[in-house]
Amino acid sequence: MPAMPTDATRPPTAEIIAAGTELTSGQKLDTNSRWLAGRLGDAGIETRFHTTVGDSLDDNVAAIRTAAGRCDVVLMTGGLGPTLDDLTREALARVVEQPLELDADALTTLEKFFAGRGREMPERNRSQVMRPRGAELLPNPVGTAPGLFASVPRGDRSPALFAAMPGVPAEMHVMFEQQVVPRLPTRSAFRSLRLLHCYGIGESATEEVLGDLTARGRNPEVGITASAATITLRILGTGGTFEEADRLAEAAEVEARRLLGKVVFGVGEETLESTLLQRLRDRGETLCSAEVGSGGVVSQRLAAVPNAEAAFRGAVVTPRNRSDELLGLPGGPPFDAVTPQHAEALAAEVRTRLKTTFAVSVVADPDQLTASVSPEDAVAYVAAAGPDWVTSANVTLLGNPGIHHARLAKTALNLLRLRLRD
Ligand code: AMP
Ligand code: MG
Repeated sequence: MPAMPTDATRPPTAEIIAAGTELTSGQKLDTNSRWLAGRLGDAGIETRFHTTVGDSLDDNVAAIRTAAGRCDVVLMTGGLGPTLDDLTREALARVVEQPLELDADALTTLEKFFAGRGREMPERNRSQVMRPRGAELLPNPVGTAPGLFASVPRGDRSPALFAAMPGVPAEMHVMFEQQVVPRLPTRSAFRSLRLLHCYGIGESATEEVLGDLTARGRNPEVGITASAATITLRILGTGGTFEEADRLAEAAEVEARRLLGKVVFGVGEETLESTLLQRLRDRGETLCSAEVGSGGVVSQRLAAVPNAEAAFRGAVVTPRNRSDELLGLPGGPPFDAVTPQHAEALAAEVRTRLKTTFAVSVVADPDQLTASVSPEDAVAYVAAAGPDWVTSANVTLLGNPGIHHARLAKTALNLLRLRLRD
């Protein structure tokens, strides 16, 4: 199997093309590109473009031509079936300017596939064993559509590598691993990706604190992303060996931790709730929660952590105005309203009742929490309690209402995390 030569002075680049009108129309989500980009990254190949194209021959030709013009590796999924809207092989034939020819070996395999199932091969399936002259068919052990592999000439530059795989994800996965990976350009660089998660700081403030560390074109590269108020640094080191790449990434992580201090709560797959429960488990300590008006957002996060029960001992989740009844809190303001006193009393009370080391609580007005536009003064309170202390914080319900629940839960967990850190 020939691996394609690429310009040895820079790492190879890739473009992924997802073909299908069900994708461009929004009926189906393109999950293949995401999967392939991850695998290419593992192989040290940077994906520079994702293209989605409908079932039009001219558009498929243009997409393949553009991709081969700007990237060394072009991976395509979809459009290999036997029906008239399956255009990948014809589009490739046009791009490489070669006639489509029948592959006799593949025809035999396909006839056997149908015979093995006691069926006659429909005439249309013959189109699946056609390939542009000079291209290879890639065997499909789990379906009828073989893939395609070809080099696409690019004038005086080395040709681009082109591989087309079926759209059905399970078929695509097998073909990629078995047939495409061995044909990819050999890696010239190794990468190490470290993720560092922070809570309690905004995106632009993070960038400001990190200064030069996030400058473009540096190795390691440090990118900042935000997801429901959690800030994540993606630290990507590149080197001649994995160890070298990882050493660079580690040095940047140490520096980022020094600059960011206590807002850093975890790495990799960790979450606020997983790191908090891990810490409690390590010390034989326990936690419970109480929520009024927030529908169990904190409790649900805690319960979802694997092996949560070792530290998370229970929750009381009530609608508004029932905490007095359920937890025996005094009635009347401020204990039946959204106030810091209410949040603190809840945390202290539930901790005593459920006999845990710590407790967290949330008090919110569900109308404010779920409003598409919250009133300007919308606020909720979170609290944390320990053996001889209780503390609370407010959460202003401004900005994207889609993340209010997540921010409430995370602020409550973070309040306890910070308190335990001191
Ligand atoms: P095709 O190979 O174009 O006949 O696609 C076969 C089936 O695979 C489609 O009906 C989709 O359900 C699925 N499929 C195609 N492309 C994708 C994609 N990019 N991501 C996820 N599923 C896909
Ligand atoms: Mg299709």
